[in-house]
Amino acid sequence: MRWIMHVDMDAFFASVEQLDNPEYRGKPLIVGGRAHRGVVSTCSYEARKYGVHSAMPIAQAQRLCPCCIFVSGRMWRYVEVSQQIMKIFSEFSPCVEPLSIDEAFLDLSGMEHLVGDITALGPKIKTRIKEATGLTASVGLAPNKFLAKLGSDLRKPDGLVIIKPEEARNFIAPLPVNKIFGIGKKANEELNKIGIFTIGQLAVCDKIYLKNILGNNTTLVQNLALGIDDRQVENSREPKSIGRETTYGDDLLTQKEYHDALWNLSQQVGWRVRNSGLVGHTVTLKVKYRSFKSVTRSVTAETPVSLDEDIFALVEKLVAQVKWAEPVRLLGVTVSKFATAGELVLDFAHDEKREKRNATLDALKNKFGEQIIKRGK
Ligand SMILES: [Mg+2]
Repeated sequence: MRWIMHVDMDAFFASVEQLDNPEYRGKPLIVGGRAHRGVVSTCSYEARKYGVHSAMPIAQAQRLCPCCIFVSGRMWRYVEVSQQIMKIFSEFSPCVEPLSIDEAFLDLSGMEHLVGDITALGPKIKTRIKEATGLTASVGLAPNKFLAKLGSDLRKPDGLVIIKPEEARNFIAPLPVNKIFGIGKKANEELNKIGIFTIGQLAVCDKIYLKNILGNNTTLVQNLALGIDDRQVENSREPKSIGRETTYGDDLLTQKEYHDALWNLSQQVGWRVRNSGLVGHTVTLKVKYRSFKSVTRSVTAETPVSLDEDIFALVEKLVAQVKWAEPVRLLGVTVSKFATAGELVLDFAHDEKREKRNATLDALKNKFGEQIIKRGK
């Protein structure tokens, strides 16, 4: 069962200023100015009452709210607080996807085994943030990213919205369609013109009528309206790719030479991929010739790979797509498009013998260093 939390700090920059400068508290405050190209970066909730909002030109904000306090902002301080918050996020989940300096998605799926009631984590993280930083956050807790973000936005500031999967569709149905991320002013107007004002109306509308307005996004948006969103929380601490490349002292000339060199690189990459606990769908081969011309070829396999032999098998496929007429000065092998944990469970071709062999060699390399052993093919 999926549980995703979206945590978003309330009026972040302005709240930090009010925290550090008690004389600003309870007053309309605008952070922005020259450093932000003359637009409002963040404003306190007191300023919002005057109609001021982010991205508004400072001059306009001054007209709307002459009594506002204007400060230019202290980014170093916001980064400092941001790091505190991100650290708290990582206490709650190993899988955190920061969206900006003051908000992130946390994947809490499967944690009921550890914490019992997952919904209790909502108030808990708010309290933890308040105690550590003195600031308030708004939290959305739901079965997917769309609903979680929608939830955190709904009762700002200091909000907490929990949307249970069985309630999701009814919960969002009465909300205006522009609550769906990506439905801007224009699409909103067009939808209103054909009589669609709420998410519930959008959910049941025939696609034929939506196609003109939403184009290629019709199915995606309608799924969101039904409360369906399969996007994963992307853990940013994981690397996007793991690769190794070598420039050879003497250019490689024969098929055997580059074959051996690529097997060697595949092992180096495989070891690193497995040590990171990852498996990747895509393998990329890079070849640079004596003339400094270079080519890159990639292949994406349905089953993700991490074993030396599997990586090398894909490399060999790519070898067939590259010309080897010229001497080679550099070769590179990279594994990318890492699978998410959920994907691993099923379609994984188990080969115990090979897995054991890889594991034994990994243990040796981890203990004595990578150079301890090189495998023949
Ligand atoms: Mg925020």
